[in-house]
Amino acid sequence: MDTEVLIVGAGPVGLTLSIDLGKRGVRCILIEKNDAPLGYPKMERCNPRTMEIFRRLGLADAVRAAGYPPDWPMDTYLVFDLMRPPLLKMAHPTVAQSKARRDATTDGSMPLEPYQIISQYTLEPLLKSAAERIPNLAVRFGHELLSYTEEPGGVAAHVRKTSGETITIRARYLVGCDGGSSVVRKQLGFKMEGEPHLLEMRQALFHCPELYGKVCAPRARHYHRIDDHWTLMIVQDSRKHFTLHAVVEKDEDMAALFEAIVGTPVRYEMMHCAKWVQRLLLAEHYQQGRVFIAGDAAHLVIPTGGLGMNTGVGDAIDVSWKLAATLRGWGGPKLLQSYEAERRPIGAINVKASGGGTAGRMKWRAAYRPDIEDDTPSGRAALANLLTIARAEAPKSFRVIGAELGYRYAGSPVICDEPGGPAPNIEDYVPTSWPGARLPHVWLVPGETSVHDRIADGFTLLQLGRNREDASGLRKAFSAIGAPLSVLDIDSEAARRVYGFDYLLVRPDLHVVWRGDALPKDPDKVARVVTGH
Ligand SMILES: Cc1cc2nc3c(=O)[nH]c(=O)nc-3n(C[C@H](O)[C@H](O)[C@H](O)COP(=O)(O)OP(=O)(O)OC[C@H]3O[C@@H](n4cnc5c(N)ncnc54)[C@H](O)[C@@H]3O)c2cc1C
Repeated sequence: MDTEVLIVGAGPVGLTLSIDLGKRGVRCILIEKNDAPLGYPKMERCNPRTMEIFRRLGLADAVRAAGYPPDWPMDTYLVFDLMRPPLLKMAHPTVAQSKARRDATTDGSMPLEPYQIISQYTLEPLLKSAAERIPNLAVRFGHELLSYTEEPGGVAAHVRKTSGETITIRARYLVGCDGGSSVVRKQLGFKMEGEPHLLEMRQALFHCPELYGKVCAPRARHYHRIDDHWTLMIVQDSRKHFTLHAVVEKDEDMAALFEAIVGTPVRYEMMHCAKWVQRLLLAEHYQQGRVFIAGDAAHLVIPTGGLGMNTGVGDAIDVSWKLAATLRGWGGPKLLQSYEAERRPIGAINVKASGGGTAGRMKWRAAYRPDIEDDTPSGRAALANLLTIARAEAPKSFRVIGAELGYRYAGSPVICDEPGGPAPNIEDYVPTSWPGARLPHVWLVPGETSVHDRIADGFTLLQLGRNREDASGLRKAFSAIGAPLSVLDIDSEAARRVYGFDYLLVRPDLHVVWRGDALPKDPDKVARVVTGH
């Protein structure tokens, strides 16, 4: 074999997967068909869970330094243009305010890391350079996967370089992080289920450094223009670049709309313009044999709510430790199989959540009337009606913290689940240590060290109660399988209160796999289940 894992596609998902696998000591090759990272805008919001994952990878500070400054307003507005007073404000805390709230919270309800705005075209080069620093990871741009063949014990990938030369790369496992038109998914024969064509939009990127010196509108993250084009302006991480999304006939219309939303003459350059289609799709499967798909290759959402890349980063972090465990010999046969069992239901929930958020936007957009800007009784009535609907509906697309932090791998074959369990809740996050859930964040040293920071790369038994039983049975059980287990004493009343049990067993991706007030009576069984045996 040339490598242990071949990752196809150096978007944010493939890059995150390769960094995590690389840090776990797995030999990998990451191939990307383009010669350089993405040069145009797509996502801009890393959600809190993605930022927690970047913290574990040692990247959170670098991501924050490259994105919005911590005090940049995150509010979103409905406007006619940026020279007139906004018509509706949806207030959101800044990163600095979120951090202050987190530091004053002890009930586990806040994420360890707040969200961060960073443009995808800034994030990808940052992740690429982090990947290139990992010695056991080869990053090869200008390498396009054409097809692959399954062979005994591995996969042979047929790859064309930019030069035209074709080569074969042999790997034990292959993960297709190759986006919405995934070659890997197509070769697997997995259909995408859902809505393939909801709305065709254009996105244009404008460079306009003088904008905030000229307009009256408050600084913000998004400005929705009240019109019949669905115009949305997104302030990119530099605050000098702006993307505009709209339903228009031709590229030139985007420049006219930019001028219309700005509302005063400014010097600007339109740097990029392209069509994109809103879709809500989920692959019927996520894996077959030694081949997996992750990210947009497996699910496509409408960007509203930011559940695209962020869901993909969740896929990456789930499959990564399972691949590493299997390659190192301690992952049992059910471990890799559990990837689809755990991540596809989350993909389904997030596709639905993104559709729900967009439905709210459609409602207030549908209330647009051509005379809405007129100072006439009918114009004023139309505006009042639209704003009433928007006040109720527009914030819905932002209420996804439950989907971001509260997802739980209910019914997973590698979790010692308990009967019952909280139902998925997209809008609200209720901290829980229920098996399958992400371990809630609790500070051990306020503002500095979280319980998360003390969790090792393998399994960790948290001992939270006053009486600590002899954990040698569990240690022996893991050791017999060859799986790493650390035992961590947590002397924190806040943690004991939030987690609700004296003992918690947590796996490498910070999901709880077992909990109890006494150590398990059958430690061998617990160790076997959670390692996939
Ligand atoms: C306008 C817009 C705004 C968005 N905003 C957000 C947001 O705020 N938050 C969020 O979470 N998501 C957002 N998204 C979605 C987000 O951009 C995607 O979910 C994300 O890019 C998916 O990452 P990925 O790595 O799975 O796939 P991609 O980013 O599509 O990366 C796939 C990579 O694979 C490469 N590739 C493809 N085929 C091959 C091949 N055969 N061989 C080698 N390489 C190949 C491609 O060149 C590409 O680099 C937004 C999307 C859009 C369009």
